[in-house]
Amino acid sequence: MELTVASNNRGKLAEYREILEPLGFTVFSQSEKGIRIDVEENGTTFEENALLKAKAVHQRTGGWVISDDSGLMVSALGGEPGIYSARYLGLETEHERRQAILSALCGKSDRSARFVCCICLVDPEGKEHFFKGIWEGTIAMEASGANGFGYDPIFISVDSDGHTTASLPISFKETHSHRARAVSALLAFLKNENL
Ligand code: IMP
Repeated sequence: MELTVASNNRGKLAEYREILEPLGFTVFSQSEKGIRIDVEENGTTFEENALLKAKAVHQRTGGWVISDDSGLMVSALGGEPGIYSARYLGLETEHERRQAILSALCGKSDRSARFVCCICLVDPEGKEHFFKGIWEGTIAMEASGANGFGYDPIFISVDSDGHTTASLPISFKETHSHRARAVSALLAFLKNENL
């Protein structure tokens, strides 16, 4: 069975290959399927954005298609940056985006935050299935650590003894992250499907 990942991100593709190939899927990126589209993520939720990307690819390939959308939601900022995590306030670099959050939280007592990941799977009949993973934590007082990417240097998982995610081994994310949780819900679904 063929499955297309609606992304050209090599990291994501490798992650999905590792998970899905043992289940009997041959995994392709959208560019390996000759699809050169850049879908505008103009949804208002993680689910809508994941669906927009998955559907656009499914219309061209049929079969099984997967897409995901993720981001950081900070309680004291009304859930921002949320779906705008990758382009928060139009800032160019990850460093600037992290600093913007640290500045916005200056003097605020509530530093709670969560990472959210929504995976959308479109099956060969065009039916949509959603799998969500949430990772609770807080925002650190300052950035630290060099592992991971994005907001990892300022995110402290509830169960990490006060260490930022970027200060912990990468393997910590493999078991705790929002993406890991969404993927495990996806796997449970696929295993039940008797493919
Ligand atoms: P996307 O779902 O790959 O488009 O990711 C959206 C944005 O959310 C990324 O560019 C990061 O800024 C942020 N983000 C998503 N997942 C993580 C994570 O695991 N660690 C740190 N930042 C993340």
